[in-house]
Amino acid sequence: MDCIFCKIVAGDVPADKLLENDHVIAFRDLNPQAPHHVLIIPRRHIATVNELSPADAALVGEMSLAAGQVARELGVADDGYRLVLNCNRNGGQTVFHIHMHLLAGRQLGWPPG
Ligand code: AMP
Repeated sequence: MDCIFCKIVAGDVPADKLLENDHVIAFRDLNPQAPHHVLIIPRRHIATVNELSPADAALVGEMSLAAGQVARELGVADDGYRLVLNCNRNGGQTVFHIHMHLLAGRQLGWPPG
């Protein structure tokens, strides 16, 4: 399967990893939109949030827990950060392997563009 994030999981494409466990990997986004921009992905390929099933509930929990851990380790937990999951065209999804964006290090605008 030609999925760039599966290649990162397999170690075939390099990534600046911040966290790795049995379920998820967190690495810095190549094109950061904030001083800290980290992607948290499941090891298993799931194309979009639409493909999540009830059996994936714990996995989504692992992604959120990993985001919180990364935020603490980056020292941004208290100041705050944003977690984003883009889905399909209107959501702006460009990589079809689900990923949670963690954006931090500056005041973020709302609503998002
Ligand atoms: P999205 O638009 O929500 O699908 O986000 C995809 C994100 O993946 C974008 O922010 C890209 O900059 C990022 N990205 C794409 N390829 C890589 C890569 N090889 N390493 C790190 N980040 C990547």
